[in-house]
Amino acid sequence: MSRPVRFNIHAKDADIRDNVAITEMPEGLQGEGFFATNLEQVVGLARKNSLWPLPFATSCCGIEFMATMGSHYDLSRFGSERLGFTPRQCDLLMVMGTIAKKMAPVLRQVYLQMAEPRWVLAVGACASSGGIFDTYSVLQGIDQVIPVDVYVPGCPPRPEAILDGFIRIQDLVHNESLRRRNSEHYTALLGSYGIQ
Ligand code: SF4
Repeated sequence: MSRPVRFNIHAKDADIRDNVAITEMPEGLQGEGFFATNLEQVVGLARKNSLWPLPFATSCCGIEFMATMGSHYDLSRFGSERLGFTPRQCDLLMVMGTIAKKMAPVLRQVYLQMAEPRWVLAVGACASSGGIFDTYSVLQGIDQVIPVDVYVPGCPPRPEAILDGFIRIQDLVHNESLRRRNSEHYTALLGSYGIQ
């Protein structure tokens, strides 16, 4: 006996279906049958909603990141479902955990292997400043070896804080000029880290 096929469109669902709106339409000129904007806005919008993170997790903050990826917080909602474990495919380096000085060259190498444009999120007190480990063996902040775009405070930061840091990265990505990576300012920034 075949099952009856039922389409249960409730009033609420129908309302959603009939009122789909583009919430993030870039600024531009609009008329009947056309919409014009500039390339920078479209590229920014696309990049912002398709970041591929590389999780560089060394300790407890990494566990918070696992929760952030879980179904309750769900980083996938931001277009970042696809984590990459090779720097060549990723554009957002998320550093989570205590970085020992021995690990610093490894972190730097991972950063160097990422293609431009790339962004860096320092998650938690350890990645941002060494945290409670003011010792001879711990790097006192990853910005001693690579440039950082956003810092997330906390020991550990809750998943909400990680999401907040991620959204701030998205804002940077969305508003970044396409020329920034070729600018003198950016070259000087990398130069200050000894990166050509
Ligand atoms: S900031 Fe706190 S929770 Fe995060 S890695 Fe350091 S000690 Fe662990």
